Amino acid sequence: MISFSQAQENLKALFASWLNEQTVQTERVNLQQALGRYLASPVFASLDLPRDNVSAMDGYALSALRPDAVTAGEEYTLIGESRAGEPYAGIALKAGECVRIFTGAVVPKSANTVVIQEDVSVSSGQAVVINEAVRIGANIRRQGEEIAAGIEIASAGQQMTPNMVPLLASQGVGELEVVRMLRVAFLATGDELKAPGATLGTGDIYESNLASIQAVLGSYRLELQNLGVVEDTPAAISACLARAAESADVVISSGGVSVGDYDFVRQCVESMGVLTDYKVAMKPGKPVCFGHINRADDGRALFLGLPGNAVSSFVVLTELYLPALRYLMNGRNVTPNQQITATLKEDLKRRAGRLEFQRGVLSREPNESGLLVWRVSAFGGQDSHRVLGLARANCTIQIPAEVAEIPAGTEVTVSVFPWFESL
Ligand code: AMP
Ligand code: MG
Repeated sequence: MISFSQAQENLKALFASWLNEQTVQTERVNLQQALGRYLASPVFASLDLPRDNVSAMDGYALSALRPDAVTAGEEYTLIGESRAGEPYAGIALKAGECVRIFTGAVVPKSANTVVIQEDVSVSSGQAVVINEAVRIGANIRRQGEEIAAGIEIASAGQQMTPNMVPLLASQGVGELEVVRMLRVAFLATGDELKAPGATLGTGDIYESNLASIQAVLGSYRLELQNLGVVEDTPAAISACLARAAESADVVISSGGVSVGDYDFVRQCVESMGVLTDYKVAMKPGKPVCFGHINRADDGRALFLGLPGNAVSSFVVLTELYLPALRYLMNGRNVTPNQQITATLKEDLKRRAGRLEFQRGVLSREPNESGLLVWRVSAFGGQDSHRVLGLARANCTIQIPAEVAEIPAGTEVTVSVFPWFESL
């Protein structure tokens, strides 16, 4: 038996060696399609930002009467206007002249200061009198002040997010070169599994693991292929795994990995590649196994085995495989689900031996001093088939392998389900 953290390490090593063998494939997609994807190449600014000297305020762009400052009481003659999309095109301003200007409009080369409209009085329509002194150069955003054409504005490997859109769109970037999406194929084994709407015979159940794999992975930029339920025979399972390995980077299977007479997945993968042969000390989650399937072209597809039990399958996917899959996507690091320290609300008792992920409800509640703190409670029944507790949970509570009892009031580590972004 190996610890959960050892299993994480082994999984990362397997993924790292696989990543090393890959030649990065890329595609060009538009800005919106690129959201959540990873840039394959850096992006360089094609424009200065601002493109010209522009006004930061609504007011008057002027050529100052004196070299050191614009002072109260000075009078300027209005000779034109500069607005967004229509810069001033008249003759150069002489000292003592100004043009009406609006935010973002180009400041004429011959003007050196913008005075805001609140600080002037306009008397005869043409005479602009200064009420407040300003320094020379005030209220002008200089060309290239923020971005000089040619600098790197996004780097290779960076994930494209909505907050990058104002920058990229304003540089006229319509398309980006991104790394092709990771292809994940998944299948379920079990002759008892039926689709929604089907009539259940004795012993049949509705399939739920494929549906939950789709749900958990569906919020990531992955190319998912649901291969459905495969007949519980070595021939059918091998054929499906081989097909999946040809078209996907990662193959996930559900069920058929315990030691029952109809658990053929393990032997099938072993005959087609390599599979771990140890037990992982996590609960729920026994049995967990992963490895790879060889391809006809000498390449290999990663293989991740999930247990059949609905809750086990779900917890192994979200706590063990999902962080590692994010590593395959970003090519950089394993990003765990958000971990929070919370105070346990009720005593907790259990059998020690494996790191346990108990489904729980995490909430922010006031303590004795009125401060909001994280508190968490676990559900009574934690068996690996109990889907009701899972449905009500928003996190898992991690109980270290050697711990059997935790009294109420103890600080415990909680792993927040990734889709509960703000609790
Ligand atoms: P297995 O690992 O195939 O022996 O499955 C263990 C338990 O999980 C059995 O009770 C199965 O009926 C159940 N199970 C297996 N696969 C699924 C699935 N895809 N959806 C729901 N339950 C499943
Ligand atoms: Mg089965």
